[in-house]
Amino acid sequence: MTIAKNILGSIYFIFGALIFLAILTLKYKIIPSSYFAFLEVGTFVSLVISLALSLYFGKSKFFSLLLGILFFFLIATHPLNYFEKFSYASFWHIAPLFCSILFVIISFLDERGIFSRYGAIKIALSVLVLAGSYLYMQHFSPSMQKALQTKLLHVSLHDFFQTNDFRLIVLTLCLGLITLIAVFTTTKSQKAIPWIFTTLCICFLFFQSKNAFILFTLVASIIALCALIADTYDMAYMDTLTGVPSRRSLEESLLKLGQKYVIAMVDIDFFKKVNDTFGHDIGDDVLKLIASQLCLVKNGGRVFRYGGEEFAILFFNKKEEDCVMALEAVRKAIYSRGFTLRKKGRDEKTKKHRNDSSRAKKEKISISIGVASAPKDGNNPEDVIKKADIALFRAKENGRNQIVTCSTTAR
Ligand code: GH3
Ligand code: MG
Ligand code: MG
Repeated sequence: MTIAKNILGSIYFIFGALIFLAILTLKYKIIPSSYFAFLEVGTFVSLVISLALSLYFGKSKFFSLLLGILFFFLIATHPLNYFEKFSYASFWHIAPLFCSILFVIISFLDERGIFSRYGAIKIALSVLVLAGSYLYMQHFSPSMQKALQTKLLHVSLHDFFQTNDFRLIVLTLCLGLITLIAVFTTTKSQKAIPWIFTTLCICFLFFQSKNAFILFTLVASIIALCALIADTYDMAYMDTLTGVPSRRSLEESLLKLGQKYVIAMVDIDFFKKVNDTFGHDIGDDVLKLIASQLCLVKNGGRVFRYGGEEFAILFFNKKEEDCVMALEAVRKAIYSRGFTLRKKGRDEKTKKHRNDSSRAKKEKISISIGVASAPKDGNNPEDVIKKADIALFRAKENGRNQIVTCSTTAR
């Protein structure tokens, strides 16, 4: 149930569903050809909106890529505005290759805003690639076509792909590379880049027609729009350091609470000492580690970073005893796991030091937790948080590394 909820609630499910819908639409001719003139206008508008939003949010990678997609879209839909003589064969041979070059170059570069030296370099590089593709399309010759159609693979995949071997190899290799780079990125807009490229690849490999390009470009621009919106949502509602929902998200969740819920306030013990002894960077790593451990809490607890080294955990429709049991398991796990400090030698590039376990030192860390449940009469989550805070204060007073519930403090 939770897995299904996670998949359906994921933005990548939306991307996949959009691509799948586009394939079905073309395969079963769901949209009559006469409607593609309207779709063309829609795609243009969607591309311009996503370009404007990338500019507004300072996303230079998206901006450069969308610029490229818009360029190929304009050529595919109105070739005679840009060329005296034009054959679609030149477009289907040149566009995939230059698209791949553009996506690979942009994927390799860091995101550092548009109005900066890096942003200008990125835009200049994409303009250069697009100018190159324009020149190739203009001077496309039968000999060039013959060279690009040279057979390179031993097996014939022509029945399956509407493409030549060279294009298939380039697109597959580039897609693999772009996906690999995206795995190491953090934002949804950067992770959306292989999805956008996949959308274009499907068109280049399976459906080489103007209408298909209009539809797949529309899907690519919608994916870009969704990713930009998802990034903005994450910035507002997720804590960038720990990756758990932020206090703003908690405040919204508190508005949607029913009658029965339990709130736990969690504070790391002697965290100032961790910062003072090992430095702020190690402190940050410990915070991330604790957040990831807290997220393993059972009984449906949802973790939020409340501020500093404090977290809040919300349980909906659960009994207090069950929540305390789940929290106790996490508290014990954090205390027994501790955190491992790698000494300087770990960073040196000698293999000898890398495997030297004596250089990894284990340090103890613990958390204190205060728990409070919603009262039967009245329902003010702020009051419940205050009570959980008082219980947390008692846990600290009693010697830390323990759970205190509001009911025990009241006694
Ligand atoms: P206690 O057991 O009483 O909670 O002791 P404590 O030292 O943990 O005291 P307190 O909760 O007041 O300490 C909070 C410290 O957490 C102070 C602040 O420097 C540190 N801190 C807050 N946010 C961050 C952060 O994002 N990164 C790092 N490294 N430290 C943080
Ligand atoms: Mg604190
Ligand atoms: Mg603390």
